[in-house]
Amino acid sequence: MSEETRELSEGHAEEDLMAAIRENIKACMQCGTCTGSCGSAYAMDFTPRQMWRMVQLGMVDEIFNSRTFSLCSSCYYCTLRCPRGLPLTESIHGLKQLAVAKGVAEKKGARFYQTFLDTVRRYGRVREMELMARYFIAMKSPVLPLSFTPLGMKLMMKGKVSPEMPQFFRPGKLDGIFRKVKELEARS
Ligand code: SF4
Ligand code: SF4
Repeated sequence: MSEETRELSEGHAEEDLMAAIRENIKACMQCGTCTGSCGSAYAMDFTPRQMWRMVQLGMVDEIFNSRTFSLCSSCYYCTLRCPRGLPLTESIHGLKQLAVAKGVAEKKGARFYQTFLDTVRRYGRVREMELMARYFIAMKSPVLPLSFTPLGMKLMMKGKVSPEMPQFFRPGKLDGIFRKVKELEARS
């Protein structure tokens, strides 16, 4: 496949995915239950309800310039509570996928997602201390850890983060699963 053809077909795949997401949430009636249910909404620049309206209106640039979808922790609470029964979390996964395809996530949060996945691959769960240590190393920014210090202290004082030492050279518990997913993705 030539580079031009590949770009065209990738462009179509992105349009199809966006169209599927719009279809998923076309029955949103803007009641705001998703926003009221979302534990991450306080940190988002647009609330989940606003984001679904932006999706309905096709405001693609605004959606991908916001940090709303990238802050979703996939808790599924909005999906459980949406009175229209819309697949909201699944649609957010679609937006994250699109952000990676468009290269938006590369700028904004791809390193964080990669580090998160790498930690899960190693231990089968998230180890917060190691996640952040790896993230800071990946970002190569000496001031970045300082901006996270107040939050980190607060979380440690509340016992939300356990001070486990990073084990950088340990083989991953989920290596096999991740390998298989890569193989399947390469085939599709
Ligand atoms: S809870 Fe459902 S219907 Fe209500 S605003 Fe959110 S997506 Fe729309
Ligand atoms: S799935 Fe995401 S958007 Fe929905 S309530 Fe949970 S964090 Fe919020």
